[in-house]
Amino acid sequence: MEAVVCKFGGSSVTDAEGIRNILSVVQLDPRRRFIVVSAPGRRGKTDKKITDLLYLCHELAGQGLDIDEPFHLIRERYLQIAGELGIGLDVEKLLSDLDERIRAGAPRDFVASRGEHLCARIVADFLRARFVEAADHITIGAEGSVAEGSCESLRSALSGEGLYVIPGFYGAGPDGAIRTFSRGGSDITGAIAARAVGAVVYENWTVVSGFFMSDPNIVANPKPMRTVTYREIRELAYIGANVFHEEAISPVSRERIPINIRNIHYPNDPGTMIVHHRDTKDRAVVGIAGKTGFSIICVEKLLMNTRVGFARRLFSILEEYGISFELAPSGIDTMSVVVSDQRLKGKAERVMEDIRRQLEPDRVEITSGFSLIATVGEGMAYRPGIAARLFTALANAGINIRLIDQGSSEINILVGVETADFENAVRAIYQAFC
Ligand code: ASP
Repeated sequence: MEAVVCKFGGSSVTDAEGIRNILSVVQLDPRRRFIVVSAPGRRGKTDKKITDLLYLCHELAGQGLDIDEPFHLIRERYLQIAGELGIGLDVEKLLSDLDERIRAGAPRDFVASRGEHLCARIVADFLRARFVEAADHITIGAEGSVAEGSCESLRSALSGEGLYVIPGFYGAGPDGAIRTFSRGGSDITGAIAARAVGAVVYENWTVVSGFFMSDPNIVANPKPMRTVTYREIRELAYIGANVFHEEAISPVSRERIPINIRNIHYPNDPGTMIVHHRDTKDRAVVGIAGKTGFSIICVEKLLMNTRVGFARRLFSILEEYGISFELAPSGIDTMSVVVSDQRLKGKAERVMEDIRRQLEPDRVEITSGFSLIATVGEGMAYRPGIAARLFTALANAGINIRLIDQGSSEINILVGVETADFENAVRAIYQAFC
């Protein structure tokens, strides 16, 4: 029988009602047999995520300080959820053990992982499903890479009938100790599970009905993004639309398993489908994303094009300071490097000094207050007139374009504008294409 993996994010398991919603979703489709859960997230703006509280407990314990206050919040939350669901699991006992282990100096990743672990135990009990311990199957190597064999191991653990619940966010390191992915990593667990069971779709349940074609804080009532390709979503994530953990795409995209972003409060909404291939005839551009907070370092030197190693030396200065860059458009005698303000913070003067000393440029300057806007769509390739439409829209809105970059894959046109023009520019491009 076809299988569907459903991952429920922290915002959909904040309380008992959220977990009851999981039951309703599962009952709507018998293929939904594999459930991955995050730790309970925030119930409101002033609330704290369980994972953040666990990190705090670990930090306090490490400094020999009292963890009573944050641990009390964790305890209350789980006891309330378990109490309202009326489950038989001894959550009180699990919490006391955890409390003891944190005070005894349990490692950071272990402590953080308990948010998902406890949540999955509760959900499994409530759904009368089998709990599968992620750490017994998923091995996480250096820099969060998933070790070969994790999928196969998980596949055999999930091969029976009925419902399964798997905690997200963690596995075990090569030494067997609990190890977490980076923040938001339950998406990755969901993707591994989807690959393991050969799911027909990987459903990612959140509290939004998928993505919009642009940021609703900038564009009033943007259209929903119904279908988008893996490549397009990567390009959009690169510049801001980050709802889905980027490392979660590769396990499913390799197998061409579609990812469906769904809203737990509106389970009948189709949400956004992330697929391998979409028909681009009806829509060339799929989304417009942007980000503020960039600076441009511009270096000018006559006959730069004839000097061997100029770019390498410029980039190695950035490398020495541990600064990665966004893009580097260049002219015959100029090179510009776009860097996020955050990465440059506290280092700008020293970087400039090194450029002056090592490259002896005719001119070098840093301009801040810069924003980037990505107009993304696989349908732009080999279709004349797209760039003209974009630049006309910006010209008509009276916006000066400070920088243009289009890769040869023609999937993304990036423009740089002054931050004062940013929102107007996004709106103008949206009107032109959506
Ligand atoms: N609970 C973890 C976090 O807050 C992982 C996740 O929610 O995916 O980052």
